[in-house]
Amino acid sequence: MLTLALAALIAAPGPVTDIPAWTRPLSRPLITFAGEYPQNTCDILHYDLTLEIFRETSTIEGITGILLTSPGGAVSDIRLDLIDLVVDSVWDATGPLTFNQDADSVFITLSSPVSPSDTTEIFIEYGGTPYHEAWGGFWFHPYVTYQMGVGVYSANPSMGQCMFPCWDHPNDKAEFDFHITVPDSLYCVANGDSAGVQFAGGKATYNWTLDQPMCTYLAAIAAAEYEVLHDSTDSRIFYYVYEWDVEDALASFVNVDLMMAHFESVYVPYPWDCKFSYVETPKGDMEHLSQVYHIASAINGSTYYDWLLAHEMSHMWWGDCVTETEWSDVWLSEGFATYSEAIWAEYYGAAEYDDYMVNDIMIPYLNSGETFPLSSPSTPSQYWSYTTYQKGASVLHMLRYVLGDTDFFDCLDSYFAAYAYSNTTTDQLRDVIESVTGGDIDWFFDTWVHGEGYPIYEIDTNWQPSGSNWEVSITLGQVQIIGPFFEMPVEFLIEGVSEDTLVTMWHDIQSQNELYTVSFEPVSITFDPYHHILSTALMGVEDQPLPPAGGTETFYLIPNPCRLSTTVSWPGMEQSDLKVTVFDIAGRIVRTTSLEAGDRYLDVSDLPSATYLVELRGEGNLRQVSRMVILD
Ligand SMILES: [Zn+2]
Repeated sequence: MLTLALAALIAAPGPVTDIPAWTRPLSRPLITFAGEYPQNTCDILHYDLTLEIFRETSTIEGITGILLTSPGGAVSDIRLDLIDLVVDSVWDATGPLTFNQDADSVFITLSSPVSPSDTTEIFIEYGGTPYHEAWGGFWFHPYVTYQMGVGVYSANPSMGQCMFPCWDHPNDKAEFDFHITVPDSLYCVANGDSAGVQFAGGKATYNWTLDQPMCTYLAAIAAAEYEVLHDSTDSRIFYYVYEWDVEDALASFVNVDLMMAHFESVYVPYPWDCKFSYVETPKGDMEHLSQVYHIASAINGSTYYDWLLAHEMSHMWWGDCVTETEWSDVWLSEGFATYSEAIWAEYYGAAEYDDYMVNDIMIPYLNSGETFPLSSPSTPSQYWSYTTYQKGASVLHMLRYVLGDTDFFDCLDSYFAAYAYSNTTTDQLRDVIESVTGGDIDWFFDTWVHGEGYPIYEIDTNWQPSGSNWEVSITLGQVQIIGPFFEMPVEFLIEGVSEDTLVTMWHDIQSQNELYTVSFEPVSITFDPYHHILSTALMGVEDQPLPPAGGTETFYLIPNPCRLSTTVSWPGMEQSDLKVTVFDIAGRIVRTTSLEAGDRYLDVSDLPSATYLVELRGEGNLRQVSRMVILD
């Protein structure tokens, strides 16, 4: 998402001195599901959205038809999510139904109980001014009216409830039909394939249909004076762009067909029986099913944002088709999509893959100072974090190393086959790996996924003649204060003047010493020469991070969006002086300043209204980047 992929956003190429590598549009998501994750009492099979958009009043009116059954037992009462929009009436084939509504819920009593062998369809008429938070929700923009399906500032990240009454959690998927009425000067795109358009009375009603199951957070519409471009080599791919960006779009989307072919060869064929597309929107990126919302500023005539296009496209497999059951397993979407950026880099070669993994994924994670476990984010800024995205991707990179390419991709294929169009968990991923490989993988998951931090290695090597050969002694230990001991196979490249050899130590005890015999005189010994392991050995000695004892979380700005001023909240770094660099969206530095410990006030009164990237550098070589929106 947005990126969520929650999409990360990199500065554009140009006259840039120091481009911040990563950011995500987060400030303070308040994700708190106390106790059990919400379970739907019914099983929703199909949503039929009839919606009219009134741009002059920034309102919508609609009727949502919901076809449902029971997952077990007789269901008489259901609860749906709905924010701010007001329900006028509810009915089924027998007549009006009893309902009541509170701030975020609609409670409906069915006319008769539904059993697992039955279905019933209810209809809900509603309307009003739709809600959005600073990122997700329903937006009226001067150019575009659009739904952004994930919120990063909201208790429940699912934002379907801003557009229609629904069960707004990932754990109940349904098929969709859309009938969206807009002024006939606009083109409206939605999930799935077009089922036609009707024009009448100065209005146009666009019909779209998706006959495969989708989560409500992926349901979206966008209406604008779009130019519709059709890919010349892959007939499944469309682009919906502003008229004035057509030329830039032709250049910026030039690699999309190659990207699709690459993912289809590495993973499995595109899993949706409908179009794939990018839709130009003021915000982005977000992996709405079959229609990624791609931020307008990234359509700039260059292919600089291919990594972002790849991230979102890969969500069509990872996140949209195989979806985490609960938001706390969000790394199963975002870690996989971030890893897919490196898979796309690998299209250009192994060296490009390695460079991307090291410099754009592993080192930014290490510099973030985050050390909390991947599998159980428990505070707001842990959800949309370097851990979820970059450490998640690093875990997949390391799994590929420990399993080998053949088993790793066999595991991905089996995992996809088992959970496509459905939901999954971290434990289910582990179980698939064990079943495909026939071996135990808990040793890996227990530390890298469920444990904290990362290893900091201490290495001692020496060699001496031994008859006609040389005996190499390698002693390896781990000295991290945070986190467990990380059992791993560790490679060493022993190099002579004209020969070399690669040896592997299965590192499972502290201060482990192994002797290796080689036929040549060593000149150097390199730890982890192919960068398989997420460790501080990837960085220069003087660059290595030294996070505070409790680690950090991803920083946020309060408020964000802001006017005139905002404040920095970086958990764990309250006592650190901070160096602040503000970049505009083109990557130019517009502000540098310093904040002493105890001072977290950021005056932005002289910066014009726009989106910026804020980089913080703190004590211990820590560095994070996030997004700041300044309003008029
Ligand atoms: Zn993503």
